Amino acid sequence: MSTQFKHMAMWTWPGAVRDEDPKRMIRRLKEAHVDIIMPYTCPQRGNASPPKPYFERLHGIIEEAHRRGLKVHACFDEVNAYKDMPVYDLQQVRKDESKGGILCHANPKVVGYVLEKLRWTLTEFEYDGIDLEDSYIFNRNTIYDPAHMTGEKYQVIPVCYCDYCRKNAPLEKPEWDQWKRDQLSALIGKEAELIRKTKPGMSFSVAARMPYNLTFYAPHQKDIPYFDGWKCCQSRDALLADWVEWLRRGHIDFACPMSYYHSNRIVELQTLECQRLIPEARRKVWMGLGLNEVTAEYRQGKTDEPGAKDVKDPSLKNGAAAIESLLRDQVRMGQENVLFFCYEGLLDEHLPVMAQFRTT
Ligand SMILES: [Zn+2]
Repeated sequence: MSTQFKHMAMWTWPGAVRDEDPKRMIRRLKEAHVDIIMPYTCPQRGNASPPKPYFERLHGIIEEAHRRGLKVHACFDEVNAYKDMPVYDLQQVRKDESKGGILCHANPKVVGYVLEKLRWTLTEFEYDGIDLEDSYIFNRNTIYDPAHMTGEKYQVIPVCYCDYCRKNAPLEKPEWDQWKRDQLSALIGKEAELIRKTKPGMSFSVAARMPYNLTFYAPHQKDIPYFDGWKCCQSRDALLADWVEWLRRGHIDFACPMSYYHSNRIVELQTLECQRLIPEARRKVWMGLGLNEVTAEYRQGKTDEPGAKDVKDPSLKNGAAAIESLLRDQVRMGQENVLFFCYEGLLDEHLPVMAQFRTT
């Protein structure tokens, strides 16, 4: 059995794009034998930087990455709603009329906006791939994704009651969920079409929520302290993002489940769910592992209850030893590629450990 991954990729958040010297960033990634960097490409997030200098930084990273033989896949968003967007008002709407924080994927004006931004991104930058950010979901009732707020009340908040959906969706009827899944899948299909037309051969992937479906985990409840809460963040049935279907239809080349845990067993189970669902999971599923503080256990403790006493226990971070152990599991299960979240959590101690897992 080979211990070598074909690809190891690194998501990179706007803070590092803005603040880290591109030469140092790429030098550290080379040292870790990471061969793909995925920087967040949309400047509205955090609103900390005007677009022009942000885009200059991105150009600098792409240039330096290519010079040193790394590929660059844009982490493309444009569905999280930010004030600077001309479509800011076209957000998902909850029944109580509050805004959902994500644009309504069903609305043709939103679809037009997203595609135009994607077209611009494809022509402005020399990207080698597009990787969709994780907000390609309905219902932002996030849990167990430590990149986001934790400690919220876990519930499924039905959306969308926007003007467009009130006119066009089978609101609150049994077929409503499938209608929303279909709208979102249609958007992913249009993005795929645009990418393949504009840049033939370019890779297209998505960040994916886990679990996909809770049923798989029922026999393993004792290993999953979050089992009850997982009901609210199942990708297909709660968040209505059917990324397995996107793979099946050939819209995307691979999916990147965000499996941000310290527990080997939970990451193993999530990998097994993917292998059960997808015939070519070893190649088409790139498990996303959390670096350093990016673990559910560290951020919220080993329970669903808010204010758990093991919150911020340093032994629950993913330092070098934890990452080595998680990578060994991925190799043992036959996974060919892996992804990390994120550059901001990349410690110097990770570099030699990660480097053992891929030959340059
Ligand atoms: Zn809507």
